[in-house]
Amino acid sequence: MRKHLRHNMQSPAILALDLGGTRVRAALVRDGVIVRKAALPTDVKGGPPAVMQQFAKLADTVRGDDDFVAIGAASPGPLDTVAGIVEVIHTLQGWIDVPLRQALADVFQKPVLLENDGIAAAVGEWKKGAGQGVKNLVYATISTGVGGGAIVDGHVLRGRRGLAGHIGHMRLVENGPACFCGRIGCFEALASGSALALRAGEIAANKPNSNLGQTAVISKVTSHHVIEGAKIGDADCLALLREEARYLGIGFANLAHLYSPDRIIMGGGMSQNFDMLREDMMAVFKSEALSPFRNTDIVPATLGDDAGLIGAAELACVALLDQGQ
Ligand SMILES: [Zn+2]
Repeated sequence: MRKHLRHNMQSPAILALDLGGTRVRAALVRDGVIVRKAALPTDVKGGPPAVMQQFAKLADTVRGDDDFVAIGAASPGPLDTVAGIVEVIHTLQGWIDVPLRQALADVFQKPVLLENDGIAAAVGEWKKGAGQGVKNLVYATISTGVGGGAIVDGHVLRGRRGLAGHIGHMRLVENGPACFCGRIGCFEALASGSALALRAGEIAANKPNSNLGQTAVISKVTSHHVIEGAKIGDADCLALLREEARYLGIGFANLAHLYSPDRIIMGGGMSQNFDMLREDMMAVFKSEALSPFRNTDIVPATLGDDAGLIGAAELACVALLDQGQ
């Protein structure tokens, strides 16, 4: 296989799939570059069988005249990538103990590489995004939830059953807000976009005459409202962002201590506000981190939503090459 690939002028195309809580996405990827991509709103009610049909439909859309040689799929976890089984997806009905790798192999009749979406995105940023050239990085997606993955000594860190890097569920405070996982005080429950929106909602309820309070009269307060408010100097929103930056700084200091990365890459929707968060986040990071870790680079991701698709395709490509050895 390796010989075949090396002498083939055009690298093989990989079908990359990304299962998300709100969207299912597919891309045809060649040499780490997306050739075509498409997305559908996740059929939440239909459960796994409906999502399999969505993947098949998306594959037809993106494949064009190209054929693909393998599939790289990214899914939320906890996901046992050794067994190829999705253990549970809290945000989707019916996703309990689903043998996703086998299901995809049955639909497409091609080799399937299944990876945790956080790890896939870490690989994407490592190979083609903000992590190029380093041997150690942690990728943290700060979005509706918080997830991630780590590259250590030039290798993807997978851990037992491929479950390493569930950074969103490290506990930062003993008593804190509830997390989707059922515990309290997780990094995700404090630093995610949803957590920020919840805190903004509390301010809106307590201060009905504030800008956030007025916003709440016409719509549900979101993290987007906080960002917009901060941009025009609203004191409540600026304080909320400082608090967000504080939680990120604490969480990232923990990640630096655990993984000793050359670089921490922040992805997800919240990374679009990286410049607004940077100063406070770095101040907290430097005060929380032990001295050898204080100069760790913290940068925004560069691939956006595509990191997981590109990473899954890269991993599928590597798995194919390994098979051919
Ligand atoms: Zn949690």
